[in-house]
Amino acid sequence: MKVSCEVIKDLLPLYHDGVCSNESKTMIEKHLAECDKCKAELQLMEQSLHITDREQNVSEAEAIKKLSKKWQKGMLKSFLKGTIITILNLAVVLLIFYLFVGIRIVYI
Ligand SMILES: [Zn+2]
Repeated sequence: MKVSCEVIKDLLPLYHDGVCSNESKTMIEKHLAECDKCKAELQLMEQSLHITDREQNVSEAEAIKKLSKKWQKGMLKSFLKGTIITILNLAVVLLIFYLFVGIRIVYI
């Protein structure tokens, strides 16, 4: 029985994941032995699946890690900035208040 490349292409993902039936498996293997095009397709699938499954996950995880690190750094920076600005403002206000009150007390 000659199977068309289209059918094999449809079954290749299942074959690649090892979830197709034994009958399909032998059929695909027979076809792959004769058809370089589908063999290349399977190799391409293996490569791209490797990339999407592992490398991309890893790079995505790293990107997220970097991003969250950056974000945390940014948060820390803006938090520190805000704290420092608040403390400075408070200090200035207190200083003015104390000076004003002090001067008044002195004058009174
Ligand atoms: Zn083929």
